[in-house]
Amino acid sequence: MKEKPLRLHKYIEEVRRINLGSRKTYQIRTFGCQMNENDSEKIAGVLEEMGYLAASDNEIPDFILFNTCCVRENAEQKVFGHLGVLKKQKEKKESLIIALCGCMMQQAGTLDKIKKSYRHADIVYGTNKSHLLPQYLYTLLTTGQKQYFAEPVDQEIIEGQPVKRESSIKAYVPIMYGCNNFCSYCVVPLVRGRERSRKKDDIINEINSLVAEGTKEVTLLGQNVNSYDSDGDFTELLYLIDRQCDIKRIRFMTSHPKDISSRLIQAIHDIDKVCNHLHLPLQSGSTKVLSEMNRKYDKDRYLAIISEAKQMVPEIGLSTDIIVGFPGETDDDFEDTLDVLEKCEFDFAYTFLYSKRRGTPAASRKDQITKEVKGERFEKLLEKQNSITLKKNLSFVGSTVKVLVEGASKTDKEILTGRDEANKIINFKGSPDLIGEIVNVKITSAKTWHLEGETNENI
Ligand code: SAH
Ligand code: SF4
Repeated sequence: MKEKPLRLHKYIEEVRRINLGSRKTYQIRTFGCQMNENDSEKIAGVLEEMGYLAASDNEIPDFILFNTCCVRENAEQKVFGHLGVLKKQKEKKESLIIALCGCMMQQAGTLDKIKKSYRHADIVYGTNKSHLLPQYLYTLLTTGQKQYFAEPVDQEIIEGQPVKRESSIKAYVPIMYGCNNFCSYCVVPLVRGRERSRKKDDIINEINSLVAEGTKEVTLLGQNVNSYDSDGDFTELLYLIDRQCDIKRIRFMTSHPKDISSRLIQAIHDIDKVCNHLHLPLQSGSTKVLSEMNRKYDKDRYLAIISEAKQMVPEIGLSTDIIVGFPGETDDDFEDTLDVLEKCEFDFAYTFLYSKRRGTPAASRKDQITKEVKGERFEKLLEKQNSITLKKNLSFVGSTVKVLVEGASKTDKEILTGRDEANKIINFKGSPDLIGEIVNVKITSAKTWHLEGETNENI
């Protein structure tokens, strides 16, 4: 682990001293993607260093933080909804500190809205600034001054932050931050800044310390991992991790079809540790819509990548993201999306209703699709994908898959749950001793959202 930046040390110590002798608790609510989940783990790490303990469900914590998302409108609405509820909690407990951070805070206008209607928020800051939380907290605690910041995204990568991981079995490891792609519907490049890659050594060191703590699986994170660029590309990074880290499983997301290479698909095939799974967002099956989305690939190219992946790695699990109702999407465009769905037979698809995002080119288009049409298409898409998912799941019945056991079912301690390489959820009966192990499970039945099986073998 690298030496922590000095400013992190200093304010952590100061806040810890203020908290000394009293039991202080925290709660973090995370909205949005895996990157946010990882950011929240770092915030939890720093809060615990400052003497805060995770709050139980039945108490009002001393510190609540919302790590926000603005990729779609409903994520934003949820944050404001929850924030409204917190006002009541603050009336009950005046000392409650409310903090807001992440993507939504980075958007023009959000801070003004908070200043106007949500004055009970105490600390507000954007993305890539969590290493400054101890300083904000210290200043608030010592001066009583609200800490509101809406500054441009910081491009610096801060290494060596403490992390409190949600799971001891699997972990997220960011390999790059930001995005340069500017898909015409997407706010991410506006709120997370330009692409910057972590150094290979920092990634390797993080994975090796996770291995030392017992972690079995890492998911390498980036908005577009295929454009990782730090003394080598993403495929080279995978081979390097394979050589230098004794981790059992490696996953990665997200891949962008415009940048994915045959070398990467080859690496999925070659490296045992790399799970046979590819998450490759399609967004739309229509070449016209893809061009207007600024995705830089067309329907045929996408189909060609998927068929290459299936050819090179026949057992590959495939998942995707799809947006329904992009401005100007016609029935024919939508039919193209359904066509790609049928041809690719994804194991899973994350489906989204197009959501207008401030500052993106698609938001100012006059040919927005009505709510009704979007809704109808969405239902159709879901129905089609669910039947494909079920059909694919049923095809596994009778086969044996390798499952990393993640835990026991909440309702029945004898039922274990985990994921196979393709990222499917597998439930089966077994001893809790198997948690954290990779076991062979024979699939006995399949549902849309999970598979069931039995095991008698530990690999
Ligand atoms: N960098 C990743 C993930 C970005 S956000 C990628 O490129 O795939 C995750 C998903 O949210 C996207 O893949 C897209 O399907 C969806 N999304 C992004 N902006 C959206 C919007 N304005 N409306 C609806 N869905 C959106
Ligand atoms: Fe958004 Fe496109 Fe970047 Fe993904 S690649 S984060 S969808 S702009």
